[in-house]
Amino acid sequence: MKVGMVGLGAMGLGMARNLAKAGLLAGVYNRTNAKTTEFNVAVYDSPEAMAVAVDILLICVSADQDVIGLVEAIAKTIKPGSIVVDLSTVSSETAKNAAAMLLNKEVDFLDAPVSGGVEGAKNGTLAMMVGGSTKALEKVRPVIEVIAKRIIHMGETGSGQATKAVNQIMCAGINQAVTEALAFGQALGLEMEKVIDVISGGAAGNWFLDHRGSTMTHSTFAPGFKLALHHKDLKICQTMASKANVAIPLSDMTVIDYEELMRDGYGDEDISALYRLKRS
Ligand code: NAP
Repeated sequence: MKVGMVGLGAMGLGMARNLAKAGLLAGVYNRTNAKTTEFNVAVYDSPEAMAVAVDILLICVSADQDVIGLVEAIAKTIKPGSIVVDLSTVSSETAKNAAAMLLNKEVDFLDAPVSGGVEGAKNGTLAMMVGGSTKALEKVRPVIEVIAKRIIHMGETGSGQATKAVNQIMCAGINQAVTEALAFGQALGLEMEKVIDVISGGAAGNWFLDHRGSTMTHSTFAPGFKLALHHKDLKICQTMASKANVAIPLSDMTVIDYEELMRDGYGDEDISALYRLKRS
């Protein structure tokens, strides 16, 4: 089974490197061609050219319209029996639309968003939540096991993205809690490395504190996970929450905060740049 990867951004690059290391990568496509040069595999100049040459096509791009645009393109050439696995974070509706676009081509589509940050992508330790057919998932499992340590089948198409929405709402709350608490500690004049060290070992310890606590208190906000991308996710969550009649006030507040930061030109910084609004 030949595997191709579309999208070599902060997440896709780490995944593609792990696939290449495992000898599983047959080809890559990235909109900006310069990012493909390190790979000793076929480099395609369009998604259509890749789709005709591979059996499993992995996608990791920014947003809903990017996934739909790519699926539209690959649908022109993709072979029956191929499987498309979308690792991007988009809406459940987009996943369902993409799957429908490929159905009459006899191509399976799995929505398989991931969590674990650029560190998880680099180390092959991501958590992956998958929607779509179990049969297709079992076919691609040997490939995605190189990318993700934990792979859970959530149910029908769209359920992977719905689960990722739960994750993104939680991330908003964690970002609010960690940035607010560390800004408070810094205002009290505490030694923040010690604060982070001791708190990490207790009940308030978490991934975000471990990976972004020290950098944010040193005013370093390199992505990581771009704030504008989390904003995109939270807008999806707001639509879903409104339909389900559920309140998500922490996410609502985070959307407003991110919009202020994006207006000030910080959209390409890591989500920990929320700290900018909390520190004195
Ligand atoms: P990123 O660094 O901004 O990379 C985005 C990638 O998508 C680039 O390769 C970009 O190509 C490509 N792309 C964007 N629009 C495209 C289009 N219309 N056609 C073709 N390619 C296009 O973003 P990222 O952090 O890797 O995130 C990718 C996805 O994973 C997003 O959905 C994000 O929400 C999700 N995610 C991110 C993290 C994280 O911690 N970063 C964690 C979990 C999930 P160019 O190189 O040409 O710009």
